[in-house]
Amino acid sequence: MMKTRNKILIGVAIVGLIFVLRKPIERAVWDLISQQRINTLHPDIRERAKAFINKAEREGIKLRVTDATRTFDEQDALYAQGRTTPGDIVTDARAGFSYHNYGLAIDVVEMVNGQPIYNNPNWQRIGEIGESFGFSWGASFNDKPHFHMTFGNSIADLQRKLTNEMVQEGFVIV
Ligand SMILES: [Zn+2]
Repeated sequence: MMKTRNKILIGVAIVGLIFVLRKPIERAVWDLISQQRINTLHPDIRERAKAFINKAEREGIKLRVTDATRTFDEQDALYAQGRTTPGDIVTDARAGFSYHNYGLAIDVVEMVNGQPIYNNPNWQRIGEIGESFGFSWGASFNDKPHFHMTFGNSIADLQRKLTNEMVQEGFVIV
C-alpha cells in the first residue's frame, strides 16, 4: 500500500503538471460571424483577437469583426473598387500590401440593435482595449475600425518571407 503522504505528493504533482501544461484558451466570441472571421486569422493572433472582442463585450461593447484575412485576389478586387469597378475607394493597398493579406489584421465595429455604429463615442475605449492586447490601432491613419499585429514585421518583411516560402499552415511565419 502506498503511503498517504506519497499519494498526496503524487496528487499535487499531477495538479501542478496540469496547471503548467494548460493552454489558456479564450472562449468563442459572442457573435458567430465574428468568430468565423477570427478563425481565418493567422494562428498567432487568433486568441488575442478573441480576447479583445470578449473584453469589449464584458464592458458592454459588442464588437463585430467585419473583415479579417483577405486573400490577394480579394485585396485586388477591393483595390479596384472606385477605380475600375463601381463604388467608393476603400483602400490604397494592392494585393500583398495590407496586413489583412497575411491574416494579421481585423476590422471591427460596435453593433447596437443589429446595426453597426461607425460614428461612435466608444471608439477611444475600443482602441484602448485592442491596444491592451498588443494590437496597433488604425486611428493614427484615420482607420478606427482597423487593428493589426505585426510582430515587428513590415509589409516588405512579410512579402520577402512569402517569396522565400517562409510559410506554415498557409501563413507567413512571423
Ligand atoms: Zn483593416
